Amino acid sequence: MKIGVVGAGAMGSLFGGHLVEAGEDVIFIDVSDKLIEQLNKDGLRINSGGRDRILSVNAGRAESFNHTQDLLIIFTKGFQTEAALRSVVHLIGPETWILVLQNGLGHASRIEPFITREHIIIGMTNFPVDLESLGYVVSRGEGHSVIWHLLGRDDPKVTQVAALLNHAGLSCVASPDAIKAIWRKVAFNASMNMLTALTRCTVGELGDQPAGRQLAYDAAAEVVAVACAVGVRIEVADVRETIDDAFSFHRDHRSSMLQDIRAGRRTENDTIGGAVVAIAKDHGVPTPLISVFSNLMSLLERSAEVRQAASPGGRSD
Ligand code: NAD
Repeated sequence: MKIGVVGAGAMGSLFGGHLVEAGEDVIFIDVSDKLIEQLNKDGLRINSGGRDRILSVNAGRAESFNHTQDLLIIFTKGFQTEAALRSVVHLIGPETWILVLQNGLGHASRIEPFITREHIIIGMTNFPVDLESLGYVVSRGEGHSVIWHLLGRDDPKVTQVAALLNHAGLSCVASPDAIKAIWRKVAFNASMNMLTALTRCTVGELGDQPAGRQLAYDAAAEVVAVACAVGVRIEVADVRETIDDAFSFHRDHRSSMLQDIRAGRRTENDTIGGAVVAIAKDHGVPTPLISVFSNLMSLLERSAEVRQAASPGGRSD
């Protein structure tokens, strides 16, 4: 299958790398010329399942490719999706499908202008992946994905894509529960990512403080209420269990939002916390904590400290 990975960062490299190993015809599309050069020159170094290897890959800017793809997998950050889609329109043909596994909400509506809704697969993935250095990605834990057709129907293409990912060693289930999995992860991320970024705490440091633990539970419960208001019936207890797991077993983890803030990068606040707040408003659901967290994140992203980290010579830890 001709597969274009759009965004060859941490997740794109993990998925693309596994698919290359499974014998698929994969192109890695990115906007970072340094990354593209590194991938083409020295290959993609990947460590997953405790194995380190280097794969020969084909990377480039979108304009350097011209064959329409059977499948595009979107792995940019949420706020980069529209620009990325605009750049790959020439790779989208009548048979092309798009799979979106980004964290957050509203991705399908950003994709719809570029492809028929009939060809969009949505889902959630929870593989933990870090960009160790340019062209080197490490996945230190287990993960899986849950995918389903955007229109909620049982479609053979979705089953085929799930089989493709499973064959590549990327555990995946095709299930109508994908929408629940997406919202559960949004509840977890909106609570834990924003709280750890705002407090600069690791996951363990947050959970060790009774106030931090309670804020995490309460914020997640707000998102669960929003999900229920839009007809996605998820349970507070399930999200709380994932939060407790993180407090116990991922104590040293620094959330992506915390890493982004420390490096002076834009976070996914708009597509996670901001998206929840917008939907909550439309449905009259109060989200006092998530609203405050999201507003504080916006302020933080514009703060002098964060801008300083992004400047040349600024901190990049
Ligand atoms: P990342 O920043 O490592 O990778 C994003 C890549 O997209 C970068 O290489 C960037 O250069 C590229 N990009 C930016 N604009 C582009 C454009 N216009 N066209 C093509 N490429 C472009 O991010 P990531 O950690 O891989 O996360 C990607 C998505 O997956 C996010 O929504 C994230 O929340 C989600 N996710 C991440 C993890 C994880 O553990 N890293 C787990 C589950 C889900």
